[in-house]
Amino acid sequence: MLGTVLHGPGDVRCEEVPEPKILHPTDAIIRLSATCICGSDLWPYRGLNDIAAPMAMGHEYCGIVVAIGSAVTAVKPGQFVVGSFCLSDNTCPHCKFGFQSSCEQREFMTGAQAPLARVPLADGTLVATAALPPDDLIPSLLATSDVLGTGWYAADAARVQPGSTVVVVGDGAVGLMGVLAAKQKGAARIIAMSRHKTRQDLALEYGATDIIAERGDAGVARIKALTKGIGADSVLECVGTKESMTQAIQCARPGAMIGYVGVPHGVALDGQWLFFSQTGMLGGPAPVRRFLPHLMDLVLERKINPGKVFDLTLPLADVAEGYRAMDERRAIKTLLRL
Ligand SMILES: [Zn+2]
Repeated sequence: MLGTVLHGPGDVRCEEVPEPKILHPTDAIIRLSATCICGSDLWPYRGLNDIAAPMAMGHEYCGIVVAIGSAVTAVKPGQFVVGSFCLSDNTCPHCKFGFQSSCEQREFMTGAQAPLARVPLADGTLVATAALPPDDLIPSLLATSDVLGTGWYAADAARVQPGSTVVVVGDGAVGLMGVLAAKQKGAARIIAMSRHKTRQDLALEYGATDIIAERGDAGVARIKALTKGIGADSVLECVGTKESMTQAIQCARPGAMIGYVGVPHGVALDGQWLFFSQTGMLGGPAPVRRFLPHLMDLVLERKINPGKVFDLTLPLADVAEGYRAMDERRAIKTLLRL
């Protein structure tokens, strides 16, 4: 079959790869209904992460189960399923505590930018729908697998509550999903930091009440001005740079929580500065599995439309263009048709 392989910085190809097989009794094989490119795929694509090339790309997935290992009991061939980018048993102490992304058996999904994929720990990882979903919901169901689940976790970790004032730092796909999540959780005010018109428009559609285009000290000053000098109750940090983390902490009022889901690159924080900021921080890879059943229900009931975050759709054969478009910020997020 044809699959997506990263050979080095800027060199991603759709090429012949072996079809996945059941390797462990706990595996399932799925035929993907659609797949997509993640903002985090751009880190190795840009050469900012060391990789063992060639590397099979893709960790966001939904589709139909075509085969299961002998120990799998929770899903069966023919069912439509969604799973998280973190593979988890959903039975260990960390999973039971709601942090499936730190599962004792955790693995990270790979190879999902392809027509078929192997999903390890299928029983703990996959969530099946009661019936096959209509085609028009596939992009939104795919979004629950990572980008929505991660934005949701940012809002959950930042303890967004009904009536909260929320700042979202970052207008990438995850930040936009953070806006959607904050709205669903009942935030009264959602301030999105964005300087790109198409992303501002989508943020407003997802529930942002204010847009701030300024960054750094000017951005913080605008937030203070909008909040009577107080700052935000909850801050969602969805970038992972030194500038975005600093901005997130500066926007937060004393006692606020910051949910940080951008993978930090080059971030170092001063201990005393953190101490006197009196803010709480919870982040890391999102335990998407905790939220999946609820998020899938919201999509199936057509209460949310996270699939709108895909503003470019390409056939898998054009995956290299999909990476380029996101790298050059011509696209927010690329959906790949199979
Ligand atoms: Zn576990």
